[in-house]
Amino acid sequence: MVTDIYSLPDLTYDPGALEPHISGRIMELHHDKHHAAYVKGANTALAELHERREKGDFTAISMLEKNLAFNVSGHVLHSVFWTNLSPDGGGEPTGELGELVDETFGGFPVFRQQMTEAASTIQGSGWALASWEPVAGRLVVQQVFDHQGNHGQGTVPLLAIDAWEHAYYLQYENRKADYFDAIWNVVNWADVSKRLDRARPLAT
Ligand code: MN
Repeated sequence: MVTDIYSLPDLTYDPGALEPHISGRIMELHHDKHHAAYVKGANTALAELHERREKGDFTAISMLEKNLAFNVSGHVLHSVFWTNLSPDGGGEPTGELGELVDETFGGFPVFRQQMTEAASTIQGSGWALASWEPVAGRLVVQQVFDHQGNHGQGTVPLLAIDAWEHAYYLQYENRKADYFDAIWNVVNWADVSKRLDRARPLAT
């Protein structure tokens, strides 16, 4: 067996700290059970690939690569999601991020609407992402299927909104529009800005 590559990051706030917008019970289950399962899945896929590689056995490569993409992407996006949220969040982006949002989308309200529409119209499970696209050097909004599909290669997620039912159903049931409204009250724009600063120097 190889050593685990991935580990579950701690939340940097109390699970109940985002109430009333996201319930503490959702945050507990979402982080401790769902995210943990993706971490385990990613480590399992890597361990199986390692073992089979040593035996020269690539018969299960398609299944293992699918498992790897799904679980690593789930781990990456949840790791972004937790830090994108804060009990002190909300409001609008300022500084360079605010200017880029204005230039690219024609203002924060339009950006917010595009993100919300992308999140709420996913057929099945997925995410709305605001990402940095390093080839053109611009912001893009993406509608991701599951954790890894319908996604532009090379883009770097800056703001991730989880649109899986496990993210809201316990509290909002079928009223997912209310969840997508509420989540803007806890967006940590300082974290999104920090991610933009780190992503901007990337070029492909
Ligand atoms: Mn999730």
